[in-house]
Amino acid sequence: MGSCKENEPQMKCAWVLGPIIVGAGPSGLAVAACLSQHGVPSVLLEKSDCIASLWQYRTYDRLMLHLPKHFCELPLLGFPEDFPEYPSRQQFISYIESYAARFSIKPRFRQWVKTAEFDSSCGLWRVRTQDIEYFSRWLIVATGENAEPVIPEISGIDKFRGPVMHSSDYKSGADFQNQKVLVVGCGNSGMEVSLDLVSHHAVPHMVVRSTVHVLPREMFGLSTFGIAMALLKWLPLRLVDKFLLLASNIIIGNTDRLGLRRPKTGPIELKNATGKTPVLDVGALSEIKAGKIKVMEGVREITRTGAKFVNGQEKEFDSIILATGYKSNVPSWLKSSDFFTEQGMPKTPFPNGWKGENGLYSVGFTRRGILGTSSDAVKIAKDIAAQWRPIKDVNSTCNTHIILLGKP
Ligand SMILES: Cc1cc2nc3c(=O)[nH]c(=O)nc-3n(C[C@H](O)[C@H](O)[C@H](O)COP(=O)(O)OP(=O)(O)OC[C@H]3O[C@@H](n4cnc5c(N)ncnc54)[C@H](O)[C@@H]3O)c2cc1C
Repeated sequence: MGSCKENEPQMKCAWVLGPIIVGAGPSGLAVAACLSQHGVPSVLLEKSDCIASLWQYRTYDRLMLHLPKHFCELPLLGFPEDFPEYPSRQQFISYIESYAARFSIKPRFRQWVKTAEFDSSCGLWRVRTQDIEYFSRWLIVATGENAEPVIPEISGIDKFRGPVMHSSDYKSGADFQNQKVLVVGCGNSGMEVSLDLVSHHAVPHMVVRSTVHVLPREMFGLSTFGIAMALLKWLPLRLVDKFLLLASNIIIGNTDRLGLRRPKTGPIELKNATGKTPVLDVGALSEIKAGKIKVMEGVREITRTGAKFVNGQEKEFDSIILATGYKSNVPSWLKSSDFFTEQGMPKTPFPNGWKGENGLYSVGFTRRGILGTSSDAVKIAKDIAAQWRPIKDVNSTCNTHIILLGKP
């Protein structure tokens, strides 16, 4: 590989002394904070114009953390004590903003990483954005499991006369008052969007194509997630799953009767095997029981005015919301590495998926939310700190066209 200047004269080059972190969401910020605690500077590249862009731009107004706050803390700084058990989206964003301020993290915004590859001739990662090529010994992937919306192919959808949007563009049911809305997908987003639509006098029809585990958010006054984590320390996973299902049946009843058939595999075993998160109910279930959220089997075809379902029913709709999840974007930009699967997740499962070869790391790809992020971030920072040797007289080794970033 030639030098940066030879390849593209207009492209600037930047030599980064510490690691390059791609993505300034909670994961990128967590690892930057942990590195700074070890005295290691880093450069954080973010394609958007703010930190935590998923939370700022691609979440709905009524969103609250799905898990209690102490399971969603980043390393080194907890939530303010006066925050509720389940902070709102806005509170979470304010926590993330104070986190970045507390550790003086200043990402380079509007830096969209287009490619990153390891150059074995110089032993450095070459990370290209739209206008700068960065070089570093270490590359930390923090672009998230939810980088891009998954848009399913549904026959006829392009003919539909009304608006079709992904849940990442949904803000509030206020935009759908008195409408009949088809919500495709029954995960946490599909359930919450449907609930929000009901509270704004819309009539959601939620498509449940496959099986789903719905659990109460709390059991016996404690968070279901917290109970599961505690039991897993003492009991085998399958026994914990049995307990969760038994307790759920007592608290919320048999969900199969509502059209929400449970998978054969238990909720935690399924989550570990496939990443499919159980739905933690925040009120949608009682609206389903009350008939305000209609549960529909799979869609066969979208028509100009509505949808035909697999059971032969046909209904008219004003809008369609695709609550069909997200995917990683790593395969689109990370080259010459077989650390990630085609789906953009580390091949080695948690807790060992944080470290690859040649100074490559990944943070936040554990399917365990912020809890997994924190675990990765602490390990990565420790590992890089053990290799970190600040270069004393780097200016003398630089060409004039190279910007030097991340002086300790
Ligand atoms: C609706 C919803 C609710 C959730 N609720 C919870 C919860 O209650 N608790 C919990 O623990 N988790 C929750 N999660 C999971 C949540 O996504 C993560 O915990 C958290 O946002 C992950 O942070 P991250 O930094 O890994 O990824 P993200 O927050 O997605 O951040 C990744 C960043 O990388 C940037 N980026 C992507 N590609 C590039 C590129 N090529 N170049 C430069 N920058 C790039 C993006 O712009 C983004 O800012 C929720 C997710 C969703 C969608």
